[in-house]
Amino acid sequence: VAKRAGYGDYAIFDASMHDSAVARLSLQTDLRQAIERGEFNLAYQPIVDPATGALFGFEALVRWDHPERGLISPVDFISVAEEIGVIRQIDHWVMREACLQLSKWQRQFSNPSLRMNLNTSAAEFVDPEFLKDLTKTMAEFSLLPQCIEIEITEGIFLHPSPEIASTIAAIRQLGVRIALDDFGTGYSSLSYINRFSIDTIKIDKSFIDDVCGDDRTRAIIDLIIKLGRTLDVAVVAEGVETKDQADALTAIGCRAVQGFYFARPLSINDATELLRRSME
Ligand code: C2E
Ligand code: MG
Ligand code: MG
Ligand code: MG
Repeated sequence: VAKRAGYGDYAIFDASMHDSAVARLSLQTDLRQAIERGEFNLAYQPIVDPATGALFGFEALVRWDHPERGLISPVDFISVAEEIGVIRQIDHWVMREACLQLSKWQRQFSNPSLRMNLNTSAAEFVDPEFLKDLTKTMAEFSLLPQCIEIEITEGIFLHPSPEIASTIAAIRQLGVRIALDDFGTGYSSLSYINRFSIDTIKIDKSFIDDVCGDDRTRAIIDLIIKLGRTLDVAVVAEGVETKDQADALTAIGCRAVQGFYFARPLSINDATELLRRSME
């Protein structure tokens, strides 16, 4: 799986277009129509135990298959979707699609504890409908709350509001897990872990890139893993690309990883195949 050109690989999105106001405007227009036109789909990236290869679950990653431009990376459209106020619609679609797929896999492989991670934007946390959507979706697809993990980034704390804090508390009240994504790229992260009782820390790829080459970086990762163990917070290493990185992380006690070395974001068929093989 790791070697194959992945579902996460994009056609090149003309870099000069970034600077063009016209292109941006057309991107906005196209984005507003993309949901109705069914242009989004999901890739599923496995989260695994590096020591055994055991599969914990998947992170749902949205892809936009633009009719003319081909696959556009979320890096290139999520911020636009946030700006023009359509991110809630996109993430709502992602939630339903990913939860439906999770329920299918749980039944097909008799594994009711298989997990799905969902990314979110700040908009979700100030919209009371988000909690209703989450509750309704879990009920509709008969999913246990602990199988859903909502990924947040420190970005949502940029403009602290009581709504954000209460939404996070309400999510945990439902029994749904919360992961702090891209950990280490923001600031004062430790206070967030404490204040919002985070379930999982996802260490950003920028740290994993240096886990073999830089002793100081390895010491920081080691510390985060120890902290996780002490506080009973799960730790996932993101963006593991090489065997050396996987071995180094295993050696310092990391029990969950995600990255191209293990698997790229996969199509439903490839992810199903991986699940089948993981059962053998
Ligand atoms: P993220 O949540 O931190 O997701 C991890 C990103 O790292 C994904 O990029 C994944 O394909 C990539 N990745 C995983 N392993 C490796 C690796 O070994 N090497 C490298 N170079 N990259 C790796 P992707 O799919 O392009 O998504 C980018 C970001 O877009 C995500 O970062 C997330 O912040 C956002 N995003 C994706 N899907 C959604 C969504 O449904 N809703 C929202 N609101 N944001 C989303
Ligand atoms: Mg994420
Ligand atoms: Mg991340
Ligand atoms: Mg990221």
